[in-house]
Amino acid sequence: MPAQIEITVIPAFDDNYAYLICWPDGAAVVDAPDAGPIRRELEARKTKLTHIFITHDHHDHIGGLSELKKFSGAEIVAPAGSRVPAADRAVSGGEKLDLAGLRVEVIWTPGHCAAHASFYLPDAKAVFTGDCLFGAGCGRLFGNPPEIMFQSLQRLAALPDETKIYFGHEYTVSNLEFALTVEPENAAVKKRLAETGNNPRTVPSTIALEKETNPFLRARSVTEFADRRRRKDSF
Ligand code: ZN
Ligand code: FE
Repeated sequence: MPAQIEITVIPAFDDNYAYLICWPDGAAVVDAPDAGPIRRELEARKTKLTHIFITHDHHDHIGGLSELKKFSGAEIVAPAGSRVPAADRAVSGGEKLDLAGLRVEVIWTPGHCAAHASFYLPDAKAVFTGDCLFGAGCGRLFGNPPEIMFQSLQRLAALPDETKIYFGHEYTVSNLEFALTVEPENAAVKKRLAETGNNPRTVPSTIALEKETNPFLRARSVTEFADRRRRKDSF
């Protein structure tokens, strides 16, 4: 029987998200923008942090890491080749971890940076995508080859449709506005934009919804993807 898993959204700064994953034997966090709010959530729940999953080494995802590590002693799991300070375990995709009741599968999702991992929890039907896949968008390439990000997005798109997506930033409304310029007749995009309105919190999304509305997942070739990504950079 799958363990009971609860996921709590922890907003940080203007638009970052960290996520607390609680299961009966412990808790893990995905990304550590800011230690304070994560720590308060752990204390309120009287649970112990055993693992810290880092999607990539950009400062807005690891700024609170050393403080979190110091107070919890949790094991830091980070992408191989990243510059995550004090990482205990390097992962490069394909790992299936079993953390005392929590099953985690690592999916390698570079493109926003060369070392970027996503974390898939089959029991919770949830994936944590950092700055790879966003609501109706994807991370900037910062000079990385577009085919790398294209492949990463395809890898995520292969997850079951009902999989919930927990992304690293809240950019969904502006992403949908861009999506409408790419596919002005896409009824699913119009519907999602109308439903989202000014809602500042659109997490989680689902693979099914992204397949219908995300212009980067919907790109049929690397060329089409690269063209859309270029246009989005100056949108
Ligand atoms: Zn980033
Ligand atoms: Fe980021």
